[in-house]
Amino acid sequence: MIIDFHVHAFPSSLAGRALEKLASSARAKHYLDGTAQALSRSAREAGIDYSVLLPVVTKPQQQENINAAAIETNAHSAETGLISFGGIHPDNSDFRSVLRRLAESGVPGIKLHPVFQQVYLDDIRYLRIMECACENDLIVLIHAGYDIGYPGSEYSSVPRIASMLEKIQPHKLVLAHMGGWGCWDQVEEHIVGKDVWLDTAFSLLPIRPAPGTQRQPQEDPPLSRQQFLRMVRRHGADRILFGTDSPWENQAETLAVLRGMELPEGADPDCGSLEDGLTSQELSDILGNNGARLLPQIRQLAPCR
Ligand SMILES: [Zn+2]
Repeated sequence: MIIDFHVHAFPSSLAGRALEKLASSARAKHYLDGTAQALSRSAREAGIDYSVLLPVVTKPQQQENINAAAIETNAHSAETGLISFGGIHPDNSDFRSVLRRLAESGVPGIKLHPVFQQVYLDDIRYLRIMECACENDLIVLIHAGYDIGYPGSEYSSVPRIASMLEKIQPHKLVLAHMGGWGCWDQVEEHIVGKDVWLDTAFSLLPIRPAPGTQRQPQEDPPLSRQQFLRMVRRHGADRILFGTDSPWENQAETLAVLRGMELPEGADPDCGSLEDGLTSQELSDILGNNGARLLPQIRQLAPCR
């Protein structure tokens, strides 16, 4: 079972405009047209069974439509291979009933994006939401670290994540982008080894510029293979989730990068070569077993290829 734990799609009527806006602020290429149909096709072609959609509520009044769409998406997961999280804004005062309804409707988790929502991660509003999500057994997936479209924005910085973790301990917490996009040295120092999952989205490949924009070769370098493997080793491969951030990365290409890290058959897991790659068990844990452990409904769904 292969699960891409971090993808995005937009309603067909908005996809073109939404992608254009995001691509120009990020100066980053997108690989699909932003629709769920294109995503389903991309996943099928890459041999990915399920992709987890992570909608972001950027204004409080959007939560109702976004969460209704998530419930509708999840009614068709077996055919589309798409499982959607819900969303909430820190200014949604009715968050308790919203989260309860999501849980009762079988939505597995929520996405929080402190940079897009412009609220610090350790703000009391987020802490209350996360505690309530935890009481409802919902996964909480947080955009962690910098955001390419908002350079220097500190809303979800490693110190904010550490401060949040001092106050609450959600038991199903996923930090996107290997714990903090663009601040992986700080993640190694302060986050690795804590009781959290890390997803690999938008971390392992160089960023290609959107047409008509430029990027310097050294601008926003990806996590190096060596540092990634060291982080996996120290954090535990059982807490790493394959994610791509599609359409901002190509699903098949990201999958190939991870598969390219597999140690040759017969490599001794107890010898020093462990820093050079992943055992086949670790690789299959990262690519799908860990995600399947977190997502209860996967057990009712067959592999979707
Ligand atoms: Zn993302």
